[in-house]
Amino acid sequence: MPASRRRLIAGNWKMYKNREEAASFVEALRPFVDGFSGEVYLAVPFTAIEAVSSAAEGRIRVGAQNMNDATEGAFTGEIAGEMLTDVGAQFVLLGHSERRHIFGEQNDFINRKVLRSLEAGLEPIVCFGETLEQREAGETAQVLEQQFSETLASVTPEQASKLVIAYEPVWAIGTGMTATPGDAQKAHQQLRGLLEQHFGPQAASTVPILYGGSVKPSNAAELMAQPDVDGVLVGGASLNAEQFGGIINCDRAPAT
Ligand code: PEP
Repeated sequence: MPASRRRLIAGNWKMYKNREEAASFVEALRPFVDGFSGEVYLAVPFTAIEAVSSAAEGRIRVGAQNMNDATEGAFTGEIAGEMLTDVGAQFVLLGHSERRHIFGEQNDFINRKVLRSLEAGLEPIVCFGETLEQREAGETAQVLEQQFSETLASVTPEQASKLVIAYEPVWAIGTGMTATPGDAQKAHQQLRGLLEQHFGPQAASTVPILYGGSVKPSNAAELMAQPDVDGVLVGGASLNAEQFGGIINCDRAPAT
């Protein structure tokens, strides 16, 4: 990974952990974060954002897992970007495959959320990935290209420098199946090329691209050894401080 980019380890807690569990997790994670030269992000339930921000004391970036594309309104059950920044969120996950496949979110809706999140001052982590069916049909590159161009339509090159991209093959999320480092690199290289094509060389050389899909302490280092894999987005293993800490520290040389 070139020096122009940051090493970024992000966790996605999904619909797990109350405030007390969240605060104890942050306490248990502290030794792994101290001394780590990259950045640690945690996408937590809305109800835990304040608890995690206050326990993290600035060492962890705290974010949400979704938001609406409106600033306010009669949208029962939804949450606005400004409401997230109001409770201390710094970033938001958008286009996660569970949002796309369980809740039916389409590229145009995700696109409006990306634009709104940038206006609200949140850093969007935008997720892309193919299903197993699409992969087996040889459509991975085409799917990534379409998701990329539709989800990031109307984003300016200046706004693009604030993005984080996550490649998360749907078949690898929560399944225990991980892309091989070579397959991950191929997709990341394509996404980096799309960054260059749409937003220019500056975005291509600085925007972090994370891999997500059954990342564990045992496979994180080889994935992150790939030149275009800048970090990882971790679901299941981010719920356990020892495991998430093991991923944060996976390429740190043991003390002598
Ligand atoms: C995720 O939820 O983004 C994810 C990658 O999950 P898991 O690590 O459990 O596959």
